[in-house]
Amino acid sequence: MITTLTIIGIHTISLGRTACTNLTGSLGADKVDSNPLDLRYIDSREDYWNVLQSNYQPSCIVYPTSAQDVSIAVQAIRLSGSRFAVKAGGHNTNNFFSSVDQGVLIDLGSLDAKSYDSSTTLATYEPGSTFGELYDYYAQFDRTVLGPTLAGVGTGAALGGGLSYLSPQYGMACDNFRELEVVLPSGEIVAASANSYPDLFFGLRGGGGNAYGIVTKYTVQSRPAGKFAAGNIIYLFEQTDAVADAISDFMQYNPDPKASIVATYLKLPTPDLYLNLDEVILLFLVYDGLDAGDVFNNFTSIPYLLNTMATRTYPEVINMPIPFLTQLTRGDNIFRVGVHRVTDDSYKTSIDAWRNWAETNKGRYELLSFDYEPVPQSLTDASNAQNGGNAMQMPDGPWFWISYILETPPGMSQVDYDAVQDSFRGMVDSVGNAEGLPLFINDASVDQNPLSSFSTYAELQKIKKKYDPDGFFVEKTGGWSFA
Ligand SMILES: Cc1cc2nc3c(=O)[nH]c(=O)nc-3n(C[C@H](O)[C@H](O)[C@H](O)COP(=O)(O)OP(=O)(O)OC[C@H]3O[C@@H](n4cnc5c(N)ncnc54)[C@H](O)[C@@H]3O)c2cc1C
Repeated sequence: MITTLTIIGIHTISLGRTACTNLTGSLGADKVDSNPLDLRYIDSREDYWNVLQSNYQPSCIVYPTSAQDVSIAVQAIRLSGSRFAVKAGGHNTNNFFSSVDQGVLIDLGSLDAKSYDSSTTLATYEPGSTFGELYDYYAQFDRTVLGPTLAGVGTGAALGGGLSYLSPQYGMACDNFRELEVVLPSGEIVAASANSYPDLFFGLRGGGGNAYGIVTKYTVQSRPAGKFAAGNIIYLFEQTDAVADAISDFMQYNPDPKASIVATYLKLPTPDLYLNLDEVILLFLVYDGLDAGDVFNNFTSIPYLLNTMATRTYPEVINMPIPFLTQLTRGDNIFRVGVHRVTDDSYKTSIDAWRNWAETNKGRYELLSFDYEPVPQSLTDASNAQNGGNAMQMPDGPWFWISYILETPPGMSQVDYDAVQDSFRGMVDSVGNAEGLPLFINDASVDQNPLSSFSTYAELQKIKKKYDPDGFFVEKTGGWSFA
């Protein structure tokens, strides 16, 4: 029996196929792959940090090598009425943000040129490299660009803000943008900067990818990268509260912007026997300089299992050993985010809620992580001093984000999967968020509607309407809600 659903399905498939046939005609078979058995197609389809995104099958995958190719692709997709997605590093865990079922996937991986101009200290990069590749490239000039703290993450991270180890000194990655080449939803190619398309430039600085157009080149302020005193400290079970207190102390009182931490609590699926035997704390401590002085003493004075502090280059900092987090790669991973002030006890109530949830939900997760991500005042000062601040218009620090990651066991039934996601959402919601602070979209789940927490939301809605007037991106690809 042919149902309405079957007709919609067949219609979607045929729109995708039409777009792909047109694209093969205009870009050539070298840049368009419609064969799910081709290695290149398989690589693109499998390279997602949330493995569930690999279930979707694009009608074809386009590999542009220039802004013109991206423009041709956008216009052909628009004409066909097909769905599409834009993919850089594939690390966003939300459904259809960088994946598509029976539509066109634009894989930016072949757009990977980069350069450095020593006379201006500006760096340019196209969106196809991972940040690890960018850090490696700029190290030859003793420079770096701001981006995430792990190597495999893609350049979409900068459009979502981009929290770096260097952020306490130089602001978010997006604060360091100086010009962006953008293919608009109309297909037009423009250069956005403080002087040209300033509203577009504003929205793209932390307001997320895939909303106002497709960025095909970033020109950014590079920063010096010499030697770092950096390493991991690993603590086990009985130190968990002492470490949380030390983290809180660091978030409130650390005066040195060269010192940066990411503090990750991990829950393993092993039984805890009411002794927290399933809990590990992994601290990333990074100091921009050879001598960190006593800035990390509160952490090193707590008994630890392992301390790998050493002198490192920036690429070495980014590739510090992370034995537990690597297990999270390509799992059924979902992010959620919280935002809090350092002056109340939310650093404790949040971790207690997370721990309780972990204990009562054994068997429903492979791995859980909970990250404290400090936003000191030096960061918000540096952010607001460049280009008039980003799309978050970050209120004065110190405050902090919490990034929660849930990895569910593979092969869960949809009913069980939905139930565990609901329960996890309930736990995060129960902690609440501080009023007047923005949720970090790089750590957010789509249902958290993070843009609505920005003080600039109304302005972003206007910018979205101006650059995507007929809602082409809204209707045809995934992304943050502006409604
Ligand atoms: C292991 C891990 C570590 C992380 N660490 C950090 C961290 O240290 N700091 C931090 O800030 N974030 C971090 N994140 C979050 C990360 O920044 C986001 O998941 C980000 O969206 C990933 O970007 P991507 O290019 O890898 O992913 P993608 O899924 O490819 O892209 C993300 C979104 O941006 C859009 N997009 C990408 N490129 C473009 C473009 N050129 N033009 C228009 N739209 C585009 C995509 O369509 C998609 O909607 C981490 C995530 C993971 C999984």
